[in-house]
Formats: sequence, structure tokens, C-alpha cells
Amino acid sequence: MTTSRRAVLTTLAAAAVGVPFLTELAGGGSTASAATGGGGDRYGSNTELYASGVYLEGEHWVRRFGRAEPFDNYRDFTPALPLTAVIAPHGGAIEAGTSELCMTIAGYSMAAATLRDPAKPPTGLTPLGGGIPARDYWMFEALVSAPNNEMHVTSTHCDDPIALSVVGGAKYAVSLHGYDPFDGSPHTTPLRKVLIGGADGRLKQNLYGALTKTFTDSARRVVVEIAGGSSAINGDDAANIVNRTYSGGGAQLELSTDLRAAMFGKFGSASDRRDTAGVGVDQAYYWNGFVNSIRTAIDRHERGLTWLPAGPDPMAG
Ligand SMILES: [Zn+2]
Repeated sequence: MTTSRRAVLTTLAAAAVGVPFLTELAGGGSTASAATGGGGDRYGSNTELYASGVYLEGEHWVRRFGRAEPFDNYRDFTPALPLTAVIAPHGGAIEAGTSELCMTIAGYSMAAATLRDPAKPPTGLTPLGGGIPARDYWMFEALVSAPNNEMHVTSTHCDDPIALSVVGGAKYAVSLHGYDPFDGSPHTTPLRKVLIGGADGRLKQNLYGALTKTFTDSARRVVVEIAGGSSAINGDDAANIVNRTYSGGGAQLELSTDLRAAMFGKFGSASDRRDTAGVGVDQAYYWNGFVNSIRTAIDRHERGLTWLPAGPDPMAG
């Protein structure tokens, strides 16, 4: 989830006009507490978290990234580069399912982070191939659940140097987040929802268009919304890591816990999620539908297109 000090101000503003959006201030995917506003975090930046000595790299958390290695030594030809980075700032046990989505949308197989072995080449992710472009990605993953979700650093405070480099080197970026619209309260009817935010309006439109075109089965409803200007998690802050591209904008996707859980046969652990992503008829509907929608939206966005909210699909035929 992504918040900022603006969250507090908008909360007050919303209270004044009676806008009931407090549920959007829920915490992460598996734990629904911390981070109602950046001030709710224990650590004010990734650097603080890394230097804390409380949570250790490799034991409690990992950072993972992949970058394309393009070259151009052609006389008559310049290869096109993927322009969009995909990131998951609160992956692993913080906002469960977002790491798996990040890797897959970026065009890589899912694999656990491996330990370094000087005698062996690095192992891990491999490009999916099959015409799916491999895109730059960055993830922070919690390997364990921390009390009060303490490893959550709000997106406006993300100062991980690789994250800044990956996003700063991209024209566009898409971030994946999890939130609980019910703030941990029990509920009987699942709410599968995607809340789209960020500073790139055209990218948000493309994501909205692709998702709403895909999720049309009313029996397996997925609510897709673009967050309003007063929403605490609309992601429009220039300091939000997803907006720190060289075009100055990106889009963040907040997925409700019920939607993420519906994508996996077993949602509990990272290995369960890797093994069961999209396995099962309904799971495939949500997982494949989401992954393919986001890839399609990114592809159209990079080609300069805008998905019109109504009327014929300009790409059809
Ligand atoms: Zn998040």
C-alpha cells in the first residue's frame, strides 16, 4: 500500500465532507495494520530498514531485480527497448502475491531467490520467452511476517538505490501492491478489486481499459476503479517510487486481498503461491486475466495508444 502525509490531510478532508473511504487505508495484504500514512511505518526509508540490524538481508528480506542488457552496434537499425519497469515494493510476506505477479508480468518464470555460490553461476529466473518481452523489474520481498508489518516502507519513502535506478531508467513504471478494503474485519462476500493510481493518466486509462475488457464474468466479479483525487492511495505523489521515471509518471495497482487470494490454489506461503498460481479454473481466470491485461496495457501504452473508455476498441480488426 502506498500512502503519504497527504493521507492524513485527505482523511481530515474526507471526514469533513463525509466521504467514506477510510477502508482504503487498510494495511498490507497478509497483515492489515501498519502504514496508515507514511508516519505509521517503523522505518522512514529502505536505507533505515536495511541499516536497522533488526531485519537482515537474506534472513528476513531480499531485494531482487533484473535489467535488460541491450546493445546497439548496428549501422542501419536500432532495436526497440521495453520502456516499462515492473516493481513490487512490498512483496513476499508483506503484500502476498505481488512478487509472483511482478516476475510474471515482467516476463520471467517464478523462482525463489537463491543463495550465492562462488563456484556456480547464479540461478533463478529465466525469461518466459514465447514472444513475451522481458522487462526490467525490482522487488523488495519479506521472507517472514514481521510484527505490525514493520518491513513495510511506504512507496513515497522508497530510497532503495536499485529501485531508483531501475525506475529512473524507465519511461513508464507499473507497481503492484496489496491492500485490504476491510482492514482485517471478517466479511462474507469476497471483494475482488483493483484500485488504479499513479501520476500517468494515460497509463491508468490503458490499465483500466484492459482490465475491464477482460473481467466481464458477473459471477466472478472483479471491481476495477481508478482512484479519485481525494483517495489516500491514489499514488499521485511525485515522490512515489512508481512516479520516479524519466517521464515523471507511472501507475500503481492496489489489489484487494480477496483478488490476490483468488489467483492461487494455496495463498499461504511463497512456495505455495509459486506452485499454485493460476492452477484451477477460477484461479486461472483471475491470474491469467490479470497478468495478460497488464501486459496488454503496457504494450499499448508503450506504442502511444490510449484505451478509450467507451466505444469500439481502436485495436480491434
Ligand atoms: Zn504496497
